[in-house]
Amino acid sequence: MLKTTTAFLIFAFKLLLMTTAYSQDLSFSKQLFDTYDTYRESALTHRRFKQIDILPLIDQLKTDSRFEVTTVGESVEKRPIQMIKVGSGPRKVLLWSQMHGDEPSATMAIFDIFNLLRTDGPFEDFKKQLLAETTLYFVPMLNPDGAERYQRRNALDIDLNRDALRLQSPESRILKGLQQSLKPDFGFNLHDQSTRYSAGPTPKQATISFLATAYDQARNINPVRERSMQLIVGMNRVLQQYIPGGVGRFSDEFEPRAFGDNIQKWGTTLILIESGGYPNDPEKQFIRKLNYVAILSGLQAIATDAYKTESRSEYNTIPENERYLFDVLIRNAQIMRGGKPITVDLGINRYEVNVGHAATFGYRSVIDDFGDLSTFFGIEEIDATGLTLAPGKIHPQSLRSLADLKKYKLDSLVQLGVTTFRLATPSRATTHLSPIHLLQPTTTAVRPVQTGRIPTFVLRRGNQLRYVFVNGFWYDVSTGDNKLATGVVE
Ligand SMILES: [Zn+2]
Repeated sequence: MLKTTTAFLIFAFKLLLMTTAYSQDLSFSKQLFDTYDTYRESALTHRRFKQIDILPLIDQLKTDSRFEVTTVGESVEKRPIQMIKVGSGPRKVLLWSQMHGDEPSATMAIFDIFNLLRTDGPFEDFKKQLLAETTLYFVPMLNPDGAERYQRRNALDIDLNRDALRLQSPESRILKGLQQSLKPDFGFNLHDQSTRYSAGPTPKQATISFLATAYDQARNINPVRERSMQLIVGMNRVLQQYIPGGVGRFSDEFEPRAFGDNIQKWGTTLILIESGGYPNDPEKQFIRKLNYVAILSGLQAIATDAYKTESRSEYNTIPENERYLFDVLIRNAQIMRGGKPITVDLGINRYEVNVGHAATFGYRSVIDDFGDLSTFFGIEEIDATGLTLAPGKIHPQSLRSLADLKKYKLDSLVQLGVTTFRLATPSRATTHLSPIHLLQPTTTAVRPVQTGRIPTFVLRRGNQLRYVFVNGFWYDVSTGDNKLATGVVE
């Protein structure tokens, strides 16, 4: 009896501990979420910032005695790679972002976190505890040469995340050197993933995905990896408040050449965070905020050991990342083939194309699939039941240059089904800002709509125009809903 009572008391105490951790988590993260705008770094407003944009922000930290800024090496093109240390606690945490130059969402969140740490306000108790219990090492931009070009790879055209063994890039040697010399207990490996991953076989985008990276082919779970799972369980619970059903689990297939896998193997508890897509957030500013909330909640769980009460089995309930999404899915369109109508769905994806020095971008959209796509979803969906797909009109006048477009009222033309202009002289541009499809002088004008082609066409009901598509963006003639964006040169 006594034994049973004691067992019950221990159970009740554990339960109490868990519920306390649980409620603390959510009220703390809610406070982070609600006060975010106070700490948001206003110098960063879009994804294509360069190292030159963050250097002054790092310089500011040098004037604050709590922060220690060191240059830990330089990139292939001699850009300094900097690390910011803050805190003096026994639990060491290394956080690195933008190993891939075109994956900057978490980089922005790191500067928001610095602002929280150096601004007086309602988080004093949290900060005191965090900086006493942990030592944080941030490398906000590991691949500045890639960021300069807004590309994944570094200036040697090497993917740093496949260079953990061969170490041919200075940036890879820096990261391995930091892991080996600091021997951090925890590592945050911060990336962006495709905006077209869904959380499970659903229409929900995986806005954030986590991975407790595997350290061997068999995907075994040792205490190092178990801690990753426990931390992720807590961060997932936090994020479900803001993106219910929008958290995914990245594939844990072992990649022997990747850093996450090796760092987990080298004994640092590794948490991969991937920023995906969120509706109407092309610059990922809401996703940046979610990174801020998730990372700080994770750090709090490390500082307080709260993650130890989490059950690792809950990790497996997070749905896996799946490929069920197109940017636009057109369902049940009729299309003429050999004089007969057939019914097809069209899966359209919009691909970003860097413009100039990668400071801005356009889109080139592609029909990536065609046929029965009833098992897929669209981030935007068009029901084309009863509608026939046909080519848009080509304007009778040719353009001498792109600048000639200024002479036309493009919106009114598009609303009449004019989708295309022909250029009289060749242009070197591949995208442009106006919502119109341009054909180079030698490009064939009318070709069948099929996979690999740029989605420019109209959808009609009989003779009545219903939708106009230009480069994968669309205008709804009956409602006036205008989603037209940038054009393309083909
Ligand atoms: Zn990446």
